[in-house]
Amino acid sequence: MITLKEALKLSPSDILALRAELKEKIKANKHLGAYIEQLTSTEIGDEYAGIPIAIKDNIQVKGWNVTSCSKILQGYVAPYNATVIDKLLKAGLAPFGRTNMDEFAMGSTTESSFYGKTLNPLDNSRVPGGSSGGSAAAVASNIAIAALGSDTGGSIRQPAAFCGCVGFKPTYGRVSRFGLGAYSSSLDQIGPITSCVEDAALLYDIIAGHDPKDSTSSKLEVISTADKLDANKKLTIAVIKNYIDEASDDVKKALNLTIEKLKNSGHKIIYKDLSNSKYDIAAYYIIATAEASANLSRYDGVRYGRRAECKNLGEMYAKTRGEGFGAEVQRRMLLGTFVLSSGYYDAYYIKAQKARAFIKREYEEILSESDLMFMPVAPSVAYKFGELSDPLKAYLSDIYTIGVNLAGLPAITVPVAKDDNGLNISAQLIGKAWAEQTVLDGAYSLEKSIKGN
Ligand code: GLN
Repeated sequence: MITLKEALKLSPSDILALRAELKEKIKANKHLGAYIEQLTSTEIGDEYAGIPIAIKDNIQVKGWNVTSCSKILQGYVAPYNATVIDKLLKAGLAPFGRTNMDEFAMGSTTESSFYGKTLNPLDNSRVPGGSSGGSAAAVASNIAIAALGSDTGGSIRQPAAFCGCVGFKPTYGRVSRFGLGAYSSSLDQIGPITSCVEDAALLYDIIAGHDPKDSTSSKLEVISTADKLDANKKLTIAVIKNYIDEASDDVKKALNLTIEKLKNSGHKIIYKDLSNSKYDIAAYYIIATAEASANLSRYDGVRYGRRAECKNLGEMYAKTRGEGFGAEVQRRMLLGTFVLSSGYYDAYYIKAQKARAFIKREYEEILSESDLMFMPVAPSVAYKFGELSDPLKAYLSDIYTIGVNLAGLPAITVPVAKDDNGLNISAQLIGKAWAEQTVLDGAYSLEKSIKGN
């Protein structure tokens, strides 16, 4: 597949040919489940012209059956475009195909989708990661030039790492969330999944910027990054040593080799530790589920999508929600409602907010002495299907990605090695708030040193 950079130079007729080629490839790769099956002609972009970009199924595209891969949103048709979609269209790009995801973006494997699972293109017996597993699998298997995902606790960075592509989560507030199906509003952020760092910068430049429709979007001026990408900038990189030491042997080995490469490229390496990551998990799963329980209350059988057969109002709510939400989503809404309930609010929710402030400070302290932090993306390579069926085990697998969302920082994951079975290992680089350029420069340098040019 060509890169986004190359696609941006194509003539309109070449773009048409590319779209036709992609349609065929998508059909031929149906078994991967990267896209949602049976896309309508609208969803495959027949109403738009432009360079095709795959879209996670929680981003509103006018006229599409956008469902967050949930049963409860079957039949819902988006009446408007998310701001990121309008920005794509303005730049000559176009939404093309809904990609698979964990239901309501809750998960790390894409196994909880209403439509069934997505296979990891590198090994079909393994998960593609999640929740943006469809977007990552589509890019990694060359059936998308680039894709949009959303990242609440790692859902762009981790699937990109499991499938072997680049995943970039911008600073919280950099990209409008208007039209993104809300999971946890203080953590969610839309970002690119691409085949290389330069494409991530190009797509980021297109979607970033203030949006009056999203009150949390920043008014800071966005300065384009792709045209300034610099692999030769010498950076101070703080390696988070205890996180690397905790990871699996393969990941540890690959990241230690990568650190040597970064040194050889002239970057200054310093070593730091972060506090026990179990606090990140606890704080994240309290805050995310609390916000989710509020956000998902809107799916009541009245306003959106599917309504269950019912005799009265109470039954309508209960049956619609009972039948429409999957087990994991129900678990999280119950947990979120519990931690917000009056008797437990101080014990859990307030404590989690304090932990969040502490975690943010810790990241900021390390970043006051460095330009970037360097750490693993996940404790291991992609899991086998079913391996993470215990919810607590699944939550624990998010240890290296969720701190970034709690702190609101920009972060990128870049492939650095393959294990003996050909599975991908990526490294994660984290920057200061609003320092997307530095994150992308570091990633660009890392990518070049890995590719050996
Ligand atoms: N795996 C995390 C969760 O389940 C992150 C999901 C995400 O970033 N959307 O919440």
